[in-house]
Amino acid sequence: MKLNNLRMGKRYPYGIHVKDQKQFTSEKPIENMPGSPKIYLSMTQHIGAPAIPVVEVGDYVKKGQLVGKESGAISANIYSSVSGTVSAVCDIVNAMGQKQKYVVVDNDFKEDQILFDEMTSFEPNDIIDRIRLAGIVGLGGAGFPTAVKLSPKSQLDCLIINAAECEPYLTCDYRLMLERTEEIYKGIKYTARALNLNKVIVGIEANKPKAIEIFSKYQDLEVVVLKKQYPMGSEKHLIYCTTGRKVPCGKMPFDVGVCVQNVKTMIAIYEAIELNLPLAKTVITVSGGGIKYPKNLRVALGTPFADIIEYCGGVNDDTVKVVAGGPMMGKALTSDIQYTRKTDSGILLLKSKEANGEKPTNCINCGRCADNCPMRLIPATMEASILAEDYLHAEKLGVMNCIECGSCAYNCPAKRPLTQSFNFSKGKIKEYYIKKKAQEEKEKNQQKEEK
Ligand code: SF4
Ligand code: SF4
Repeated sequence: MKLNNLRMGKRYPYGIHVKDQKQFTSEKPIENMPGSPKIYLSMTQHIGAPAIPVVEVGDYVKKGQLVGKESGAISANIYSSVSGTVSAVCDIVNAMGQKQKYVVVDNDFKEDQILFDEMTSFEPNDIIDRIRLAGIVGLGGAGFPTAVKLSPKSQLDCLIINAAECEPYLTCDYRLMLERTEEIYKGIKYTARALNLNKVIVGIEANKPKAIEIFSKYQDLEVVVLKKQYPMGSEKHLIYCTTGRKVPCGKMPFDVGVCVQNVKTMIAIYEAIELNLPLAKTVITVSGGGIKYPKNLRVALGTPFADIIEYCGGVNDDTVKVVAGGPMMGKALTSDIQYTRKTDSGILLLKSKEANGEKPTNCINCGRCADNCPMRLIPATMEASILAEDYLHAEKLGVMNCIECGSCAYNCPAKRPLTQSFNFSKGKIKEYYIKKKAQEEKEKNQQKEEK
């Protein structure tokens, strides 16, 4: 197929070129991994308030049964991915250092499944209600509850499907596009109906010609071929490259009339509406030079990473790093206490030559990080403020607009841990404002009492 018959995306002048390393798994069909004996379901698999456990130790649960109920406007339900007995409801500190509430289910391997009722009406509100009930969140990594995203404050005119998958190594979206095209298409149609939209753009990077060809057959979708560039999958860049619209700092896609959804989310929507299934499984890529048999896998949510690594044949010698996600935006793990969540896209096992294990040295003010930043920030200056513990100055310099894409650190000759530093400072800034608000409320209450 000739790509030049299709619309090419706009060129974005910033960002970087990274080796895509997709050869490990791009031709490997998705395999279903058998269930693990124990499943650990985090109550925080999304942005927003954690779900509240609704089961107790000793309860029998079916596959697809609610175990964590959404709590508040921005939250999501959590369902059991296996049938069996609840053996714990407890706090666990995972390998990212996050203390979260978990429901642990001992799998009885009976696959005793519970389904939602059949839908009889498919009006926009019915579709959104089913998506909310099914616990669907953005599966591209963000984890924002999809039902909330499908209820924008302003009228939109375009749905954009993010099929860029620009992170090196990851191929799960690509395989889904080849193997489950029709389900993705149906998910897109339901999503467009929920938003009352006719215009749908599918943005696919030029290095995926088979996916471009398949999706170009649908007359009611417009495929836009995107330049292979990192971070093309970031929402703001995808919107610019597919529509030419710029989302200003501090604004959201709906402010420029668009909604962006990931291909994997489209399958979850299809399954919730046509198969009456909650979101309880996901597809991930297990890759890197450190894993014996790289694979694309469909796994139950809550599966221990250790079981997944074992299923893929274990690790090769000289494996020095395990990452949840891709090498650019993923998080390095410090232990094997990690379990699949809705937002996971991959597990990477990296050998020393892939892992960039060099020790950081002092910044040499070369300016390369600023040249590469797609958000037009000045990473070296922000890092200097953070090292001086002046987080509010880092905020003034725009650290809250950092999308943690890792482009600055990728080409830094001094190997500065810039992305980790920005992630850390964002936490500090949020903490500062939470404390400030609490203090202000305390003072207000004191003043009231004095009156
Ligand atoms: S790329 Fe690295 S060494 Fe160069 S200015 Fe940025 S932080 Fe400093
Ligand atoms: S400062 Fe943030 S947005 Fe800019 S390149 Fe670095 S990680 Fe990406």
